[in-house]
Amino acid sequence: MAEERSCASCGGSLTPKFPFVRDAQADDAYAVLVCADCGLGHTDPIPEDIPAAYGGVYYSEQRHGITGRIRAWLRARWVERHAGENVGRNARSIVDAGCGTGEFLREMEGRGWTVGGTELEHRARQLLGTTLDVRADLEQFAERAPIDVVSMWHSLEHTADPKTQVEAAFRLLRPGGRLVVAVPNHGGWEVKLFGRHAFQLDVPRHLYHFDCVSLERLLSDAGFTLEVVGYQELEYDVMCWLQSALNASVSPPNALFNWIIGRPLHGTRGQLVASLVLGGVLLLPAFVAALVSVLVHRGSVLKVVARKSAAVCEAAPGAPSGGGPSPGAPGHS
Ligand SMILES: [Zn+2]
Repeated sequence: MAEERSCASCGGSLTPKFPFVRDAQADDAYAVLVCADCGLGHTDPIPEDIPAAYGGVYYSEQRHGITGRIRAWLRARWVERHAGENVGRNARSIVDAGCGTGEFLREMEGRGWTVGGTELEHRARQLLGTTLDVRADLEQFAERAPIDVVSMWHSLEHTADPKTQVEAAFRLLRPGGRLVVAVPNHGGWEVKLFGRHAFQLDVPRHLYHFDCVSLERLLSDAGFTLEVVGYQELEYDVMCWLQSALNASVSPPNALFNWIIGRPLHGTRGQLVASLVLGGVLLLPAFVAALVSVLVHRGSVLKVVARKSAAVCEAAPGAPSGGGPSPGAPGHS
């Protein structure tokens, strides 16, 4: 339960939304609490040993094969289209917070960007090798500031203190620089329909659960202005719908996804076969649901570009900047 916890973004009070959400990788359960003011979801309790919650198998070579390279190409294209247009050809720099196994950074490097990344996860660092400049946190890139773009591809929801992380990105960026953030969309139809079974909750690895309003509040409080909002990412759209439907129907949770990315099998072989067969049946409906939800801006992913506003660039991070949705509606992509 909430006890004395308050919202990690705005300080508001927390109330239970899903009191019992199973951890798909262990025999544990957590609650998801939401902020009454900004709507940010909080996994509760926060595990005392966060690295242990990953079980040492969050990243694998199998997860980042050909699909990883396609995903990196799509992300790079999106960043250049929405966050790179104002960047000079000879001085394009990006730092990717939570760079995982580094495919995205290698793709950006191939496009002529100066790249750097942060990563805490031990297994990912092993896979990265030594060819990329990867450090423990954003603060360690201060000597390379100002940076043109900071990206956070599905890392902000894993961060123990998202406010501090966004403020660190603000300090690193040049005025007019862009912050690119992708997170699971807690405000989408997937969570509405499947509730505590929703694949994207992934407690306790996902410590926070953002919708568009709570993400914009976090970013605007740090001095950013939201420019672009997108709801589609190839790797997640159909998979989220498919695995959520399976989680609501058969045990153990995430069996199909874990099988695809090569994680150890939880449950029996019979349960895995049941997941695979039912998954085949549900593939087409999941595809349709994913397509429609993206079209009406209720997709399973939220990806945004936010600009470090020149008007507030001299203010201390966390200084009041209006909060809540900005009057100018951001464009959609
Ligand atoms: Zn809040």
